[in-house]
Amino acid sequence: MRSLLLSRRDLDFLLHEWLQVERLTERPRYAEHSRDTFDAVLDLAEQVATEHFAPHNKKNDEHEPTFDGETVTLIPEVKQALDVFAQTGLVASSMDESVGGMQLPHVVSGACFLWFQAANVGTSSYPFLTIGNANLLLEHGTPELVERFVGPMLEGRFSGTMCLSEPQAGSSLADVATRAEPQDDGTYRLFGNKMWISAGEHELTDNIVHLVLAKIPGSPPGVKGISLFVVPKVLVGDDGSLGERNDVVLAGLNHKMGYRGTTNTLLNFGEGVHRPGGQAGAVGYLVGEPHRGLAYMFHMMNEARIGVGSGAAALGYTGYLKSLKYARERPQGRPLAGKDPSAPQVPIVEHADVRRMLLAQKSYVEGALALVLYAGRLVDDERTLPTQEERDRAHLLLDTLTPVVKSWPSQWCLEANSLAIQVHGGYGYTREYDVEQHYRDNRLNPIHEGTHGIQGLDLLGRKVVMHGGAGLALLAETIGATTARARETGGEAGDLAAQLDTAVERVVEVTAKLWAGMDPELALANASVYLEAVGHVVVAWLWLEQYLAAAGEGEFYEGKRQAARYFFRWELPRTGPQLDLLASLDRTTLDMQDAWF
Ligand SMILES: Cc1cc2nc3c(=O)[nH]c(=O)nc-3n(C[C@H](O)[C@H](O)[C@H](O)COP(=O)(O)OP(=O)(O)OC[C@H]3O[C@@H](n4cnc5c(N)ncnc54)[C@H](O)[C@@H]3O)c2cc1C
Repeated sequence: MRSLLLSRRDLDFLLHEWLQVERLTERPRYAEHSRDTFDAVLDLAEQVATEHFAPHNKKNDEHEPTFDGETVTLIPEVKQALDVFAQTGLVASSMDESVGGMQLPHVVSGACFLWFQAANVGTSSYPFLTIGNANLLLEHGTPELVERFVGPMLEGRFSGTMCLSEPQAGSSLADVATRAEPQDDGTYRLFGNKMWISAGEHELTDNIVHLVLAKIPGSPPGVKGISLFVVPKVLVGDDGSLGERNDVVLAGLNHKMGYRGTTNTLLNFGEGVHRPGGQAGAVGYLVGEPHRGLAYMFHMMNEARIGVGSGAAALGYTGYLKSLKYARERPQGRPLAGKDPSAPQVPIVEHADVRRMLLAQKSYVEGALALVLYAGRLVDDERTLPTQEERDRAHLLLDTLTPVVKSWPSQWCLEANSLAIQVHGGYGYTREYDVEQHYRDNRLNPIHEGTHGIQGLDLLGRKVVMHGGAGLALLAETIGATTARARETGGEAGDLAAQLDTAVERVVEVTAKLWAGMDPELALANASVYLEAVGHVVVAWLWLEQYLAAAGEGEFYEGKRQAARYFFRWELPRTGPQLDLLASLDRTTLDMQDAWF
């Protein structure tokens, strides 16, 4: 039976026929691998996700974690699934062999994780946060920190979090107020509150390793004064043994719309509930140098932003497959041309409007999947391409695209989930079917890891203008290489290329116009619209790439080409009015006064 989580056929197409990931094995880092090892690990991910994560997805949602003032309780299936996950070794799938990792290409390990996100986004958040935390420490931590905390995280004994947000500091991390006071022994004591911390408290692992942004007294104001600390829930001795309870405690759980299987916490640091060494204050260890904490944290945040895009794509994908199955099985109505009321009803997939909703979903979720896998491939390229110049180009392209990789799937795969509900009609609005939960789960993705609005500001205010506009120029050049190939192919591919070239030229023109006035307030007023227009252009490009790769015969390729046509006919034209609005330097939102609402 075909999986209702993701399409392995599509993953294989994207990984092998399009991205040709097997060629990565020509690079020394991946020389030990082969198509066989890639396939085996994808098989394993699909099997574990299907057998151990998917079955309790609904239960996770219906029985959210509870806190009795002492202990957080989750349904037992979460721990059982995570124990199986730990045994697979997937937690270290892309890490170096020297730390016990599989040293798989990032794009392949990212494809594996999609299965877990599609199966049960709540349970899969625990290891994903742990992986991001461990990767940050491997990059920026001392060997002592790595030994003490990363080893146990990779064994599944410890888990990790990222503690950035505070009640008064969400989008504006410059306003982080948690204080880290230096101690004579080189450690720090932390005092403050962290809000929204995913996986911040539970009994799933022996210890929780918090990565915490805080300010050392006397630091410069703003983001330049932020440092990064490891704050374990339980202190760990030099020999790795667990010691005293640290002074970080759960103040309460947040009760969320979706993602309910992941605990979400308000944590208090340094309130003296526990007194390690006889003294209040959460013991913390500085990571790297003082005041460079946000830069280090970006290591985890950039990874998490691709992870958010991937999660959104996975939720969109599973909703699409479930609505497709439903549409093929649900008899309702008769063809418009049929006049006989006694004729049997047809499955709703026969109605053009239902096919519209399915085609829109297909174009969003398969476009998003291509986008997140492409980003994963760029992570491999920025690390392993032969020359520094090539690695720098891959880095610049990834850096430029990251806001789109985070935001586009979060917006359009949420829309896909909404359409999946619509395809189910009234049944889609009930809890009997999965799609309403997918929608609620996916609704988080435009909010966390930098809201939609913040990603727009990042793209237009930073990414496309940095290094004298080199990021946008490289994106346009990279898209141009695809359209040149498509023009050579000619026919329909050439027509799509012409449409895309026009859209890219317009983005470049409009970007220049927005910044010509040197007025950042005006230039950035409609940055979310810019993000959405650029996102659609980028995904149109990836649909043209898929169109070119799907040159074969048969239903799968026909479907790919039709979805590409849909995207170019129905979706890419949305960018015209958006770019016109931006080019007009519209002031409507800026000029609106608070008192007029
Ligand atoms: C379920 C969940 C899990 C989370 N997990 C974590 C976690 O593990 N670790 C962690 O550190 N954080 C986590 N977060 C926090 C999350 O990253 C923040 O909620 C997010 O960054 C937004 O911050 P805020 O909620 O304070 O909203 P605000 O920053 O107050 O934003 C409110 C609105 O104002 C807009 N806005 C704010 N500032 C600007 C501006 N300068 N220009 C234009 N618009 C602006 C925003 O786009 C948004 O629409 C999580 C949040 C949720 C809901």
